[in-house]
This record gives sequence, structure tokens and C-alpha cells, in this order.
Amino acid sequence: MKPIYLDNASTTAVRPEVISVMTDLMLNNWGNPSSTHSLGRNAKSALELSRKNIAKLIGASSNEIIFTSGATEAIHWIIKGCVEKYAIKRVITSKIEHHAVLDTVLGLNNVQIDFVSVDDNGVVILDDLCDLLFENIPTLVCLMHVNNEIGGINDIVSIGNICHNHDALFMTDAVQAMGKFVFDLQQLPIDFLISSAHKFHGPKGIGFLFKRKNINLTVLFEGGGQEKGLRAGTENLPAIVGMETALTLAYQNIDKDALYIKQLKQYAIDQLKIHFVDVHVNGDFSHTSSRILNISLPLNESISGMLVFMLDMKGIAVSRGSACQSGSSKPSHVLQEILPENWVNKPNIRISFDYNNTFDDIDNLVKALKEIK
Ligand code: PLP
Repeated sequence: MKPIYLDNASTTAVRPEVISVMTDLMLNNWGNPSSTHSLGRNAKSALELSRKNIAKLIGASSNEIIFTSGATEAIHWIIKGCVEKYAIKRVITSKIEHHAVLDTVLGLNNVQIDFVSVDDNGVVILDDLCDLLFENIPTLVCLMHVNNEIGGINDIVSIGNICHNHDALFMTDAVQAMGKFVFDLQQLPIDFLISSAHKFHGPKGIGFLFKRKNINLTVLFEGGGQEKGLRAGTENLPAIVGMETALTLAYQNIDKDALYIKQLKQYAIDQLKIHFVDVHVNGDFSHTSSRILNISLPLNESISGMLVFMLDMKGIAVSRGSACQSGSSKPSHVLQEILPENWVNKPNIRISFDYNNTFDDIDNLVKALKEIK
């Protein structure tokens, strides 16, 4: 059987078009964008064209886009940079953020940390955010757009408006949303947005952050003055151009892919419910991303730590929680927050889809789960 990849929230396959653009660049446009000779100027043109095209796709201006090595770097930079630059005294976040956010926030000194409540879908309760923001101190709010484990979709427009009505800065981790939703950042009340190319069929180790024009950030790296003097270091041009190509293709296919993937998720839920009467779907269909399906199975708890491995032995890749937590025997911090206690230790998997998946993939997954049962 051909290996079946149902772990697209961990990472995605690089599109062939992206590989070919990157290869061409490495062969034919390998100059240093900071060099003043023609090879350098050609590289600089490719760099700035990518920035312009990415900005255009998400309704931003070129000078609001900064390239980074991915989301983790951008998250650290923004949180720590804001605390320093804006004398932030409090960070409001949720207990179900990615560890890149949670661990950075928990590592801050002399900053009050407040956790906003989330509902059973992992969606932020807006009234609770309003209540927290009532206390008027310099605040940064860090709340993700789409949760990476259960797919809960936050209302980032309302969150941003609430933040701005209370003079708080708003950063959103849009890693699981970029390339799946259309963004118009000119209209969105967001100060910082974070994205990572390998989640939308681009290369790994590259991402970008959006920083609204009038907002300042601290310098991350001193050196050659790249990225407007904020993040020095020779730019990873092939990866940047690859990322731009991947995002362009994602946008071109956005409606078609969304429709197809929604059908895949619905089919998976239907099949799982037929074959596992007591399956627990973690997150309602209407409040979660169609790319992510998180289920707990009514199987013996002793196989919780083994289920992903058992499926892998059958040629099927899924994960348990996020990729970085997959090997852990501890229950996921996200499920701990949203599930009743008697379900937290049940065997659980995250199935995450993309346009490459087929209905047969789902049939094979269900068949494999039944064999394990
Ligand atoms: N935030 C979310 C929601 C994620 O899913 C991930 C990756 O799994 C990250 C942040 C970290 O991204 P990166 O691998 O680009 O550092």
C-alpha cells in the first residue's frame, strides 16, 4: 500500500512548482541581495518582488512584511520585543496556544500572565477577554487564529476590535490559517500576524511576519542591516521565493481546495461514527477548520501512547497532538483544557487533510483502526 499522509498540520509536501522555482533560483540567481553588482541586484529584485507579492496576497504593504526562519522565531521576537519596546506589563493568551507561544510567555519576567477561557471547540470566549481587558495596563494579547490540535477557529476580527478598544496590542499566530483563508490585513484589526511556509506546501525554515506600519519592534539581530535593520543576516532567497510561490498557488486554489477538504473531513467523521459508535470528535464541524479532525477513540487507554506508532506500522501517518508532542506519553495540553476528565486519557489522534488526500485514504485509515480495535 502507498504510504498515506494524514498529518498536514505538522507539515506539508513541498509543491513541485515550488521546488522548480527554488532550483532555478539556486542555479541562475544565486547572488547576495546586498551586493551592488548585477548578480546582487538581480537577487535583490527577486527578494523584493516576493515581499511585494506576499504583501499583495494578504492585503498588506511590502514594508509590513519581514522574513523570518519560521513561526517560532517570529513569536519569540514579537512577544519579547513588544514587552521591551512597549513596556508591556501583562500578556493575555490562552492555555491552548502552541508551545512556541506558551513557553515564551511563561518565560517572561515581571509580566503578569492572564489566560482567557476557551469553549469546548477551543474558541476564545470573547466576554472573558473583555472582562480581562477591563484592567487598564499595557497589554499584549497573543491568541491563535486556528488551533493546531483541534482546529478551533477564533474570531480574530472581534478579538482584534476588543483589543484595540482597550488599547492592547494583538498578535495572532496564523500558522494553521495562512493559505487556507483569504486575509485582508488592511481591514483586519491585527498588529502582528505570524506564518510559516512549510504549512502551506512551501519549504521549511522560512516564514514571514506581518507588522503593522505604525508599530515598532526591537532589533532581533544586529549585523548587515537586512530586513530594515531589524533582522540582519543574508536572506534565504530560494526559500523566500519558494514560499511566495507556495502562497500564490494556495490562493489560486483556495476555494476549490476548501470545498474538497470539507467533504473529506465530513466523510471521515461519518465513516468513523459508523465503525466506532462511541468515537468522540473533539470540536464541532462548524467551529473547527476542515483541515483538522481530532478524535478520541473508545479503545483501551493502554494503547494511547502507541496508537500513532501502530498506524505508522500500517503505512499511515497521523499525529497525537502537535508534531512536537507526538512522541510524548502525556495527554495533550489542548485536550486537557477542553475534554471531560474521563476522555483525556483515551487514545486520541489528530488527522489533518490537504488537497493530496483521497476518500480511499480515509477508508484505509478506518480499516487500520478497526484492525487495532
Ligand atoms: N504555531 C502553530 C499553530 C504551529 O502549528 C506551529 C508548527 O507546528 C508553530 C507555531 C511553529 O512553527 P515553525 O515550525 O515554523 O516554527
